[in-house]
Amino acid sequence: MYFKRLLIANRGEIARRIIRTARELGIETVAISSDVDAGLPFTSEADAHFVIGAAPPSESYLHQEKILDVARRTGADAIHPGYGFLAENATFARRVAEAGLTFIGPKAEAIGRVGGKLDARCLAVEAGVPVVPGTTALTDFGVAEREAERLGYPVLVKAAAGGGGIGMAVAADAKALERGVAEAKKRGATFFGSDVIYLEKLIDAPAHVEVQIVADHYGHVMALGERDCTIQRRHQKVVEETPSPRLQPSTRRAMMAAAVRLMQRAEYTNAGTVEMIYAGGGDARGAFYFLEVNSRIQVEHPVTEMVTGRDIVALQLGIAAGERLSDLIDVQRINGCAIEARICAENPERKFFPSPGVLSRVVFPDSTSDLRIDTGIVSQSLVPPHYDSLLAKVVAWGPTRDEAIERLKRALAETVIEGVKTNLSIFQPVLDHPVFRRGDHDTRFLKTHLGYEY
Ligand code: ADP
Repeated sequence: MYFKRLLIANRGEIARRIIRTARELGIETVAISSDVDAGLPFTSEADAHFVIGAAPPSESYLHQEKILDVARRTGADAIHPGYGFLAENATFARRVAEAGLTFIGPKAEAIGRVGGKLDARCLAVEAGVPVVPGTTALTDFGVAEREAERLGYPVLVKAAAGGGGIGMAVAADAKALERGVAEAKKRGATFFGSDVIYLEKLIDAPAHVEVQIVADHYGHVMALGERDCTIQRRHQKVVEETPSPRLQPSTRRAMMAAAVRLMQRAEYTNAGTVEMIYAGGGDARGAFYFLEVNSRIQVEHPVTEMVTGRDIVALQLGIAAGERLSDLIDVQRINGCAIEARICAENPERKFFPSPGVLSRVVFPDSTSDLRIDTGIVSQSLVPPHYDSLLAKVVAWGPTRDEAIERLKRALAETVIEGVKTNLSIFQPVLDHPVFRRGDHDTRFLKTHLGYEY
């Protein structure tokens, strides 16, 4: 392999996931961590490990200088950012390149082109991809009010720089709009350093369907199928599956083609995801609208790997090393169905509030070719309050959707996590629900069908 030593600028399950592929490719790995994470499995599984700072991300996983310093000192020739933290940070991607290393992801310019939700919407329009009816950047409340009237309530106020479900507010009338604008501006400024907002029409009872893209440096852009991530709480995914149970073949093809067009227009390279919102309604064909691009590997990538047999991290490394997609992928086949449950340290009875602490007992079923457990924790691990609450992804494959679901149910029933509150209890009722089994669920399912508050 082109790379000899890979620094992983991330933690937990995704750091372990990247280490696995690197090892298979004969690449040495360097882990960095905060001090509270020093005992997690990813730190001992890497060939080398450096504690670079305290728990707050600004002192460790987001500290660009410290990370680059470890990369230089260890002679790493590439940095994989995983997801979250610095993964979609164009400045970091540029600095990695300027230090003479390879950033495993798109070029800084491409991250810049798709990173802002408003810029990405413009690209989508240019590429002939439908976008949710909405506005450009809004600064004046009077204009926002007029625009909301034009779009028709309810509308969604969005922070242009937002992500992870943060910086969005639903407004059903002018009064709520005022509150929503203030909230989205504040959250945008606090979490993402920008108070730019815009409005989108709130699509009624939608589904979330996204397209996995891989693109090389020679103009080949390829869709590796879609993922349906409609089971959500607080606009964040909880269950993901592929293929989507709701798409007609013609709609699926149209979505793939739209995602490819958009990424070609962005001159995008490496792995990325084009997220769409799908308004099925009673219409057999259904309409889809572009939402945003995630310019990194996604949490839910394993379902795609299970049905395509492709290792997306290996594709990322191969593409970054200058290989051609036609050499990396010969024919693309989708085989069977895969479904993932995200187990998080959070309390479903208290609006899914995070529940950090020490894990007194952790038991997972054995992984098989049809069952994959991606996790960063073991018994006695500390779940710090500073990071995402994801503990594990349990991913099941089956020749049919029903078989994949039944396998996932069995695996979840064999899973034990004690010491913190988890959302483990929510999956069985979802997976058994007739609406979910028919593939008729929408993004509010946990609230409307199971009565969860969030
Ligand atoms: P983030 O970047 O914070 O993840 P997204 O724009 O990707 O935000 O949206 C996250 C989720 O919010 C979607 O999966 C969907 O459930 C919901 N959502 C976003 N935009 C709309 C919309 N216009 N109408 C209805 N739901 C939406």
